[in-house]
Amino acid sequence: MSKDNLNALDGFISHLDSIFSVTSYDAREIIATFHLEMGSGLAGTKSSHKMIPSFVGPPRGKEKGRYLVLDLGGTNIRVLAVELDGKGNTTLSAGSRFVIPQEMMCGTGDELFDYITDCIQVFYGQHCVGRQRTYDLAFTFSFPVEQRSLVSGKLIGWTKKFTAYGVVGKDVVVLLSEALQRKEMGFINVVALANDTVGTLVAKCYSDPSCDMGVILGTGTNACYREKAARILKSPGLAPLGEMIINIEWGDFSQLKMNIYDQDLNRASHNVDKQQLEKMVSGMYLGEIARRVIVEMMTQGLLFREASPSAFSKEYMLHTEHLSLVARGYDFFADFGLRDVSEVDRSTIRELCRIISTRSAKIAGAAIAAVVAWMYVNIESYHTIAIDGALFEKYPGYQDHIEGILRELFGERAKRIKLALVRDGSGIGSAIIGAIAVSDRPSGSGHDSGRHRS
Ligand code: ADP
Ligand code: MG
Repeated sequence: MSKDNLNALDGFISHLDSIFSVTSYDAREIIATFHLEMGSGLAGTKSSHKMIPSFVGPPRGKEKGRYLVLDLGGTNIRVLAVELDGKGNTTLSAGSRFVIPQEMMCGTGDELFDYITDCIQVFYGQHCVGRQRTYDLAFTFSFPVEQRSLVSGKLIGWTKKFTAYGVVGKDVVVLLSEALQRKEMGFINVVALANDTVGTLVAKCYSDPSCDMGVILGTGTNACYREKAARILKSPGLAPLGEMIINIEWGDFSQLKMNIYDQDLNRASHNVDKQQLEKMVSGMYLGEIARRVIVEMMTQGLLFREASPSAFSKEYMLHTEHLSLVARGYDFFADFGLRDVSEVDRSTIRELCRIISTRSAKIAGAAIAAVVAWMYVNIESYHTIAIDGALFEKYPGYQDHIEGILRELFGERAKRIKLALVRDGSGIGSAIIGAIAVSDRPSGSGHDSGRHRS
């Protein structure tokens, strides 16, 4: 590369550093606007935070039983068998993961729920046959739902890659139960519906009462926290309950400064102007942001000059896993037909992955800071934040960046905030919610599965 080109490259990287930066000032602005939106969402006035009551308070650690769990994420379906010993300990006695085919995400609701039920059937065949007569199943659902009770809720709208037709506005527990009936699996009773963030919080809280927030950083991103029920102004009837977990649905926060790459990605997406925070933070999008920057740099002759311009032309062909590989010291070039990549190009890609993933973690950190400060203005007490999702778990250095921004914002008090990875928390927690639902169930409700635990 000529000296002029190297200068142009340096200039471009500095430009990226600046348009993807999140300063302490930006983080404080995020906190202030988060608080306004949280207040409006709780009051039931216009807000990008839906602030959905979950109908669950913190668990007591005494919930007991054996549950099947269906965890429908943005990429994976996980089916789990979870045992709760009533002393704060959970055992995952079996678990299977199924990748959701793209055509199931975008077909009809019946096809999607039939596919989900097929996954349960496979799991059942491997782990459950002949053990019990009936099963209680807790359903973790990672999409915005207007929850009406512990075991019912209508889908408000799809997010991530999902568009399955005929589901929005319907009760997803009814759809799942109908699919189980269609597949002659009516001996499985759906006893609870939980958002994945709520499951994650509850899973950690079962053994650690200092946990007051659950966060998902996987295909999508979202969070929930423990709220005083009296502050949920839009539902005054909940006040006597004392405390309730609120699903923020923060992925839809719309007051971040989008740069040109974010704007282009947003315009080309199937949900234009929705899920703006999610589009800048979560695993579904980081690879696509990087791809868009790479295409621009190739067009300007600043990267992969020997490669065909079409090497990165397909949307969403570059995944967050690819960026994560680079952060680990490997590369993804062979997947894109690139050979003999120069050291300059390698280092440019490393910088690009650093810039995009750091911004993601800093926005996530500012959002976490906003919720903690909402609960306790001066961070007077110790907080455990339960986090589930492969982006947080597997992206090298991601947690360090979140902790870095918390230190920038709160100084020494940041030591009172502990980030805890709760692997499979989203599923395990909904088993606990299942136990709460079963114990709350009025006698004579027609369900008898609790009496047949083996
Ligand atoms: P789900 O969102 O379906 O619940 P996960 O929490 O496992 O599932 O998140 C999957 C997403 O996490 C993937 O779509 C990808 O964006 C991201 N991801 C997966 N593996 C890695 C990795 N090694 N490093 C960083 N991000 C990853
Ligand atoms: Mg998940």
